[in-house]
Amino acid sequence: MEERFDASKIAFHSLSRKLGEPWVEVYRRRALEMARGDPERQRALASLAGARVLNFLIGPYGEGRENRGLLSWSPQGLDQNSLESSRLSDSPVENTSWLVSLALRLGAAAAGVAVLERRWVYERVQLNPYSPHEPRCKRIEFRPVSQPQEDEDELIIPDSVTRALVVIVTMRKEELRSKSPLAASIETNLGYSRMATLVVSMASAIREAGFTAIPCMNDTALSVPLAVSAGLGLAGRHGLLIAHEKGSSVRIAKVLTDMPLKAATPPSNPIPEFCHACGLCASSCPVGAIPKGEPTREALHPCNMAGHLKWPVDGEACLAYWVEQGESCALCQGVCPLS
Ligand code: SF4
Ligand code: SF4
Repeated sequence: MEERFDASKIAFHSLSRKLGEPWVEVYRRRALEMARGDPERQRALASLAGARVLNFLIGPYGEGRENRGLLSWSPQGLDQNSLESSRLSDSPVENTSWLVSLALRLGAAAAGVAVLERRWVYERVQLNPYSPHEPRCKRIEFRPVSQPQEDEDELIIPDSVTRALVVIVTMRKEELRSKSPLAASIETNLGYSRMATLVVSMASAIREAGFTAIPCMNDTALSVPLAVSAGLGLAGRHGLLIAHEKGSSVRIAKVLTDMPLKAATPPSNPIPEFCHACGLCASSCPVGAIPKGEPTREALHPCNMAGHLKWPVDGEACLAYWVEQGESCALCQGVCPLS
């Protein structure tokens, strides 16, 4: 079986271990320090709190997001057995057309279906996010069970869950490259809040139609390869999705399901030709986190997954820059000419 990625290696966790405290606390301290005596920055911080509220309401970051809060893997307050007895349709074409149009109606900029290849699902997730201590982890396993389950050691996805509905939301490119205080942070958090509403709504609709739904933000599985497999775009030099027609200023969320859905055919080359000659994101990155050379299958940094052709981005250098600035950066998305 192909290796899966250990999510305790993502930069948000590994940088916290290096800093000796949660990255988000250092970041927040810095943000408050910079806002002292600066009304424009204080207003921007308050705007940020408004932009991110829905993302925070759907579930805590405190013990991993998988199967927590509104990102629960079970139908909340609904009897799944009675829902299953009145399943909507077993036609993959009809189901896909209905789900994609519903996602667009609920605010997605685009939606598509991917085969849920297990190599894109995290091997394990960290239960003490951003902790400076050793990671406490839970494995994600696939088993022949009828419903998603969780025990002390494992989060269990039924074998029947073979599809990912992938949705994207857009962000305003001009905000991502704006020099106004916290403009990129606010826009990014608005994107997260939109993703939250979308995945929770889509999961509810899928359950009401009688099927299993596992709503995910960035948790549970790697979003970019799933979005590429779903035919929504290609993986750019900056390590992010370049969505067809929408470009780089997008965020991705997904719902894993056993609903019969017609999956897209993945592109034969997941990397845009244009990125080879362009390199604007790499030359614009203030900390050189985006490689300037050719793509590789090697993991150049601990947060990279080896074995898949891409430009491996130094996620820790990127996040350390956010912490130092007291605000997040999305310049690579903002400058991308394909946005
Ligand atoms: S800025 Fe250029 S190299 Fe970077 S992702 Fe966009 S198109 Fe690719
Ligand atoms: S977000 Fe900013 S720091 Fe991070 S890779 Fe992009 S340009 Fe570099």
